[in-house]
Amino acid sequence: MRHAIHGFTGELVLPGNPAYEVARRTQDDTVDRRPAVIARCRDSGDVAAALRHARETGLAVRVRGGGHGPDRFAIDDDAMVIDLASMRAVHVDSTGPRVRVEGGATWRDVDRATQAHGRAVTGARIPSVGVAGFTLGSGSGWLERKLGLAADRLRRARVVTADAQLVTASAEEHPDLFWALRGGGPSFGIVTELEFALHPIDEVAAGLLAWPLDHAAAVTSAYAELMADAPDDLGGGLALLNGAPFVPAPLRSTPLIAVLVVWTGAGDAPVSPLRALGPALDFVRPMPYAHLQAMFESPEPYTARLHGVGGFLTELSPQVVAVLADHQRSKPAPEGSMLVQPLGGAVARGDARSSPLGGRDAPWAYQAGAAWFDPDADPAVADWAASLQAALAPYTIGEAWPNFIPERDATRLRAAYGADIWGRLQAIRACWDPDDVFSAGHAIALP
Ligand SMILES: Cc1cc2nc3c(=O)[nH]c(=O)nc-3n(C[C@H](O)[C@H](O)[C@H](O)COP(=O)(O)OP(=O)(O)OC[C@H]3O[C@@H](n4cnc5c(N)ncnc54)[C@H](O)[C@@H]3O)c2cc1C
Repeated sequence: MRHAIHGFTGELVLPGNPAYEVARRTQDDTVDRRPAVIARCRDSGDVAAALRHARETGLAVRVRGGGHGPDRFAIDDDAMVIDLASMRAVHVDSTGPRVRVEGGATWRDVDRATQAHGRAVTGARIPSVGVAGFTLGSGSGWLERKLGLAADRLRRARVVTADAQLVTASAEEHPDLFWALRGGGPSFGIVTELEFALHPIDEVAAGLLAWPLDHAAAVTSAYAELMADAPDDLGGGLALLNGAPFVPAPLRSTPLIAVLVVWTGAGDAPVSPLRALGPALDFVRPMPYAHLQAMFESPEPYTARLHGVGGFLTELSPQVVAVLADHQRSKPAPEGSMLVQPLGGAVARGDARSSPLGGRDAPWAYQAGAAWFDPDADPAVADWAASLQAALAPYTIGEAWPNFIPERDATRLRAAYGADIWGRLQAIRACWDPDDVFSAGHAIALP
């Protein structure tokens, strides 16, 4: 099949082209789709040209950013993939202070640029996650208690709409579209640029305190009590570790319970109640924020099979940690993480007037990920993830933010927003994409 695209200056990667086998893969090895054409765009003009061509030729449209989304979100069989991976420029306006980010950038690109100015915005805990996909689906990261979600920090976006027009969305221009983009998902248009409000974040105190798992009850209770009235500057989470490479050899085969401390305030991190419990490891120290962000860097290209689940919790209790520890032990995947993160702070102050995202009252959230290499283990991992969600159900409140719903599920997506917000998102979608062009992934169903 030949695809000449009028006005397109980027690269078209077609089946049979040597680059095709690499270009059709994502971060997740379970995604194994064969698109009709992959349009590697250089700018918003290319995005509009590729989109126009797809609509004229009847090709389904998929949009690829950082490639961390689940199966069929960004890559699909026989589709036109509008690939933004070459659009990664980041411009920091240090006087604003704002940062403008092209639609295919990853958090690695953004953190590198903003840290040169001693500033930051809430980014993903894994640097290779795409900025646009992350932000459109909430954007939960280490700085969320201090700065809010990435969606909350979005100030302006440039969007190629379903009719291939480039528009600006902000509080002043197309405020309905802007509201929908702040967490309403990827079905309102192709975001070619995002502008975020930056905050001065340079050096932080961060790192792990860790204990053998038989200290879990005492550590959990002390951490829950500490976070109940902690300042917004204290973030991080509680994690279960097993054989992490940075753990010194004598403890490497010991299951550990750890608190990851992220302190953005002045002086020492206020974690003395935890230190009083005598951690076996105390790695908390001052470091540039960029070092914290790089702590969970993965080699590129990362070629594991990935599955993650998450949700909001009513409590962090020894019972919750016991469920997590059971599932850490039984996980049929060699890699992955278990994290319970404290919410509150700036996350709780967001409201429906400024963003469609719910979950603002939840005190805690969890995320559990599995990374594995053997396709034969796929069913066991799916069963394991379902079992974990079921065991946590008595402690779960509401529905997770879209970024933590790992499959296309209209019922869960609707529940994540609630009926009123869903209705408003549907009306905005009907206005901006009446022909259902952006129907993939966590698309808001047309009314
Ligand atoms: C290892 C891992 C760690 C993660 N960590 C976090 C975390 O800490 N916090 C969190 O909130 N989420 C996290 N996530 C979830 C992640 O944020 C979402 O899956 C997100 O959608 C990924 O975006 P992407 O651009 O990397 O992926 P893609 O697969 O490229 O895109 C995901 C979706 O966004 C759409 N999209 C991408 N770019 C654009 C664009 N420019 N315009 C319009 N639509 C676009 C795609 O079409 C697709 O529907 C993690 C996921 C993984 C696999």
